[in-house]
Amino acid sequence: MKVPLVLSSFLDRAVSLYGEKEAVFTEDKVYTYAQMNKRVNQLSAGLRKLGISKGDRVAYLTPNSAEMLEGFYGIFQLGAIMVPLNTRLTPEDYLFILNHSEAKVLFIDQLLYHLIQPIKENLECVHTIIVHHRTDEINEIDYNNWLSDLPDSEFERESVDEEDVCSLLYTSGTTGNPKGVMLTHRNNYLHALSAMHHLRVSDKDTLLHVLPMFHVNGWGSPFYYTANGASQVCLRKTSPEAIFHAIEKHNVTIIHMAPTVLNALLQYYDQYTPSVSRNVRVVIAGSAPPPAFVSRVEKELGWEFIQVYGMTESSPLSLISTIRSQHLDLPEEKIYQMKAKAGHSMIGSEVKVVNEHGEEVTHDGKEIGEIITRSHGVMKGYWKNDEATMESLRNGWLHTGDMGVIDENGTIEIVDRKKDIIISGGENISSIEVEGMLYEHPAILEAAVIAVPHEKWGETPHAYIVRKNNQELTEAEVIAFTRERLAHFKAVTGVSFVEELPKTASGKIQKVQLRNAYWEQRGITGKFV
Ligand code: ATP
Ligand code: MG
Repeated sequence: MKVPLVLSSFLDRAVSLYGEKEAVFTEDKVYTYAQMNKRVNQLSAGLRKLGISKGDRVAYLTPNSAEMLEGFYGIFQLGAIMVPLNTRLTPEDYLFILNHSEAKVLFIDQLLYHLIQPIKENLECVHTIIVHHRTDEINEIDYNNWLSDLPDSEFERESVDEEDVCSLLYTSGTTGNPKGVMLTHRNNYLHALSAMHHLRVSDKDTLLHVLPMFHVNGWGSPFYYTANGASQVCLRKTSPEAIFHAIEKHNVTIIHMAPTVLNALLQYYDQYTPSVSRNVRVVIAGSAPPPAFVSRVEKELGWEFIQVYGMTESSPLSLISTIRSQHLDLPEEKIYQMKAKAGHSMIGSEVKVVNEHGEEVTHDGKEIGEIITRSHGVMKGYWKNDEATMESLRNGWLHTGDMGVIDENGTIEIVDRKKDIIISGGENISSIEVEGMLYEHPAILEAAVIAVPHEKWGETPHAYIVRKNNQELTEAEVIAFTRERLAHFKAVTGVSFVEELPKTASGKIQKVQLRNAYWEQRGITGKFV
């Protein structure tokens, strides 16, 4: 009989081979795999007692934590569905997602409870369970008390098929309303096998979770690190100081993070030059940084840099910037340039770049097209949104809405999101390329470039900039800087200096908000997606 590819088997493997090894570290706790498994059994028993059964949705609104990690496996034993929630949304967003997913139970960190208080009456959720820092002010079930009364013996599992949905992840909402992505056990299982191969995950690894587990790049790691008996470190706060501290304390070997966070680490490193653990073997980022940035990470921090590309809808990763052995003799500079590209498809994924007629673009590194992918990781569809599913999944291919180019070696480079590309005088300008250039300016801490209307050219690039330590920098200097280094039509035509840029919980810059801010400043309101 076929062995079903279900995620509970990953924890089973860790418990039988690595039972006494630390599964998870937090600021105040450590659990071994055997201890974690007991808590998982208690959790499954508790959920069953609350009436949760196969196919039911269970939501988590918590930062990365031991409780969330055990939540995955507790839910999966029941064949129920994990709905991890972004911790940076508004009460209205939570009302929408919780009711849209019809979650029956919500696990919520007490420090985030205020986010649902205003909408509590309208929530259809039946049970709310408070995780962490219980006080008597809140009249809800207390997680640890509740768990301690439940049996930790082996749980009688539901029969789960690999095609059953195990998670409902809402997209970041970077470009519009979040959509619920349905991923099956098989999707996540096969993605995990591919990711653990490419990242060479082993029982010697300790992963530091910097990205939230609730979606892309952070998503999936609770599966492939667990399967290999690696340890995982969960931090409630992820300041540069806390990250460097955790790296030292737990001998971290691998970190997934957004380049914006990596950038903050480099700034901190410049200021304080902490001793950097050489145990970190690799840092994985889901975005295209300039080659100079990659070189700093590798040379100064001594961490191998790997870029990955993916989206929630593909479990998430499809491309990885692997450097092949025949290229190792290339000049350093060339290698950093290659690493700044998203790279090649991962095992189990096929990725193409196509024009508007669906034909593959020329492999010349120049012709821009949409990135499409098919793989074992591609979602079943969007929850209760057939229209969006049909728009994204066509003839078995996931249409990503991201634009890229592919060169003669098959290396794919992400150019921009379809919605962020600037079309100036009929030419496509990648906002990412202009931002990469701005990051090379010594007084610029962060930059984001959007399209703004222009009488003559249709659109031109406008930069939002955060200065480093409020250093002197004028609009004219920024414009001149880009005109010197880029083709003139790509140079920015205006600059807004800001204190900070709006970001999603995973550190992505929300350009929709910048577009709105730009228009609102000029007296025009409305959503500009
Ligand atoms: P929404 O779909 O709700 O607008 P989102 O697309 O940001 O939000 P995610 O699924 O979290 O939601 O992120 C996937 C997106 O992140 C990709 O479609 C792509 O635009 C961007 N991305 C991921 N990896 C890379 C990369 N290596 N380089 C550039 N962009 C990337
Ligand atoms: Mg998306």
